[in-house]
Amino acid sequence: MTIFDEFESAVQSYARSFPCIFNRAKNELLYDEAGNEYLDFLAGAGTLNYGHNNDLFKARLVEYIMADGITHGLDLHTKAKGEFLEAFNERILKPRNLDYVMQFTGPTGTNAVEAALKLARNVTGRENVISFTNGFHGVSLGALATTGNSHHRGAAGVSLGGSSRMPYDGYLGDGVDTTAYLDKVLGDSSSGIDLPAAVIVETVQGEGGINAASAEWLQQLESVCRKYDVLLIVDDVQAGCGRTGTFFSFEESGIKPDIVTMSKSLGGYGLPFAMVMIRPDLDQWKPGEHNGTFRGNNFAFVTAKAALDEYWADDRFAKDIQRKGEYVEKRLAQMAAAYGDGNFSTRGRGMFRGLNCVDGDLASKITRKAFANGLMIETSGADDQVVKILCPLIITDANLKKGLDILAAAIRDICA
Ligand code: PMP
Repeated sequence: MTIFDEFESAVQSYARSFPCIFNRAKNELLYDEAGNEYLDFLAGAGTLNYGHNNDLFKARLVEYIMADGITHGLDLHTKAKGEFLEAFNERILKPRNLDYVMQFTGPTGTNAVEAALKLARNVTGRENVISFTNGFHGVSLGALATTGNSHHRGAAGVSLGGSSRMPYDGYLGDGVDTTAYLDKVLGDSSSGIDLPAAVIVETVQGEGGINAASAEWLQQLESVCRKYDVLLIVDDVQAGCGRTGTFFSFEESGIKPDIVTMSKSLGGYGLPFAMVMIRPDLDQWKPGEHNGTFRGNNFAFVTAKAALDEYWADDRFAKDIQRKGEYVEKRLAQMAAAYGDGNFSTRGRGMFRGLNCVDGDLASKITRKAFANGLMIETSGADDQVVKILCPLIITDANLKKGLDILAAAIRDICA
């Protein structure tokens, strides 16, 4: 009997899936109180791209704390903030020929999305925002209104307005270009869809089941936005920071969003941190219009800069992610083929991969079996039917293989 058994109501769903008490973690491994080791294929839902307790980040953080660096600074200019901004500009924006103004928001991805939506509405004077089926953008009311999941929406307790859902890439089946539908309704004054302030999109839908939009679809989406003078917001909260094989998930498609939301792995160390990247001419906030006590966490500035220095000074890390991603895809395809009969299909991009199961029941049996053998892995998708491969990007080849071996064995045990 643990304290968690007594306080059942405090135990949320992750804890029900992984019923043990964790007390230590390093890189891609977690340990429980009994000393058991678990491979982490969850990575804090995309927050731990650089692993748990990354040595370099930890050293920089300890050094900063020991030197009495600023902890909390609201909007003050701090050295840590300046150094992060400089590194972000030099290592990320300039080499990609991108020009954005940075706004630090409240520390969650949701809050960055709130800021992006509010800014788009203020700048355009329009209310409606187009988002997509199966999309996930957060759980506060503005962000939730753009989230395409009735389970999450149902918790709002109020009607969620100001947003219309459109079919994501692939939603209407292979080969159907759903941006043509968007183009049609936006150009049709009798469609009943108000001309939106913005379109908000994930290039790969994480919570929605690792649905990856094609580069062509994203390019088409961008051109529809340009045609109707609608702002394009890419929500890179989960897909960003290298997950898809490039720093931003939209790089491969070559699109240039007007606004980008970032959080999760941006802070590097699992520290709460979020920001909005704004096309300079759109930065029309008046002072204090979107504030928040915990915006711009100075510890996270330190570790975020460490991540940029260590992993993004050249393209070696990106190439390594792409290589690992191809390996994951190959292994998942083998698993799908071995237990065919339409039970499985693969999906995703880079190290953002999924094994789509015929239903949520099968996916949950597989993840439970995998956990019993030392692999922490979760599901996503409308029916939780997609086994989500989201390990830290720094995972060793040996542990990546080991985790996928455990997954393959779990599938064999259940399906054989
Ligand atoms: N956008 C996306 C794409 C996400 O995946 C998430 C979180 N899963 C959010 C926004 C919300 O982020 P947070 O949970 O930090 O508020």
